[in-house]
Parts: sequence; structure tokens; C-alpha cells
Amino acid sequence: MLTVTSFTFSPVQENTYVVYNETGECCIVDPGCYFGNERNELKEFIQTSGLTPKYLLNTHCHLDHVFGNKFIHDEYHLTLHFHMKEQLLFDNAPASGLMFGLPFDQYKGPVTYIDEKTVIVLGNDRFEILFTPGHSPGSISFYCKEQQFVIAGDVLFKLGIGRTDLPGGNFETLIESIREKLFPLPEDVIVYPGHGESTTIGFEKRSNPFLE
Ligand SMILES: [Zn+2]
Ligand SMILES: [Zn+2]
Repeated sequence: MLTVTSFTFSPVQENTYVVYNETGECCIVDPGCYFGNERNELKEFIQTSGLTPKYLLNTHCHLDHVFGNKFIHDEYHLTLHFHMKEQLLFDNAPASGLMFGLPFDQYKGPVTYIDEKTVIVLGNDRFEILFTPGHSPGSISFYCKEQQFVIAGDVLFKLGIGRTDLPGGNFETLIESIREKLFPLPEDVIVYPGHGESTTIGFEKRSNPFLE
């Protein structure tokens, strides 16, 4: 049984997720911790909960989602996982950090590319990967079918969608990803987004103004 814990970090207010189960293993998705106190908060949570980090995952590689990659790697020696089509954004993240006045130390360890053929396994629990580009070229969503939730990065928000005006973004592709990959999921599926509060597939199908 998976437990999803979220943290909201950095001036960009990005949601970082720690997902764990009774084995004590956890995935860290999009560690956006930017300041020292945010890194400590994340580390203390992992420590006091007795967790063993097993996966470091990025839904996509915009700077707000990658700030803490290096910290997690240094602390727990995890290899970073993201979709191949995010490599360029990943490489450009430090430069955009400087541009936005948010410089940070980039992760320099190995990268494992993941895609829809990859299954992320934590004990008896598993995530499928949905390829959901549009906000960025290689955005992916982590879907847990058994427990009906999806960690969707910046694809779909409560009553909103990801922006598509950044390099590599495409509005039509984003709408198609939501309609063809997320909306076919059961209505009760909880969506944990990269920003703002969680929502459900059913609520967004009925109420999201961008998808009428
Ligand atoms: Zn983004
Ligand atoms: Zn974001």
C-alpha cells in the first residue's frame, strides 16, 4: 500500500512527492528543494519515517523540478531517471536558473532513461509510465493502477493545464496527451500535479476550462 507525501518547495512553489510503502522503500519524484531548510525538511522526513530511497525520478526537467536532484544523489546515491526527450531541457536547466535568478548546482551523476516500457517497482507496488508530452517534449506521468493515482508533473492541474510557451512546449500535443493518456483513466484516479492542489480525472473532465 503506497503513501504519497507532498512538499511544496522553492520560490516557484513546486510539488515534490515522496511515495513509499510498508517495505520502507520510497521514490522521490521531482525533488524541487532549493533552500537549505527545504533540503533538511525532506531529509528529516525520510529519516524519521525510516525510509530507504530507491528511485530518483523526474516527470520532466524544468528547473523547478530538478533543483534537488544533486542533493538527493549526494545523500542517497541514487541514479536520476527521466525520459530521453528531456535531455536538452535538463542540460539547459542551470542556464535557465541563472536567467530566473535561481542558480543551483546541477546533478552530474549518471542518467537512466525511462519510457512507457519501464515499470517502477517498490516492493509489491508498481507504477506504469505514461508518455504525456506537450508541456515539455519528454514529460511523463507515473500511474499507480492498483491505487488509482497518477503523479503527472506539469501536464494537468486542478482547473488548469501546463504552460506550452516554453522551449519544446506544444499546446496541441499537451491537449492530446491529456485526452488520450490521462482522461481514459478511471474518474476516481487522483492527480498529483507539479503545482497546486491535487484533483481527480473525473473532476477535470467535467470542469477543466481548457478541455471542454
Ligand atoms: Zn514544467
Ligand atoms: Zn513546474
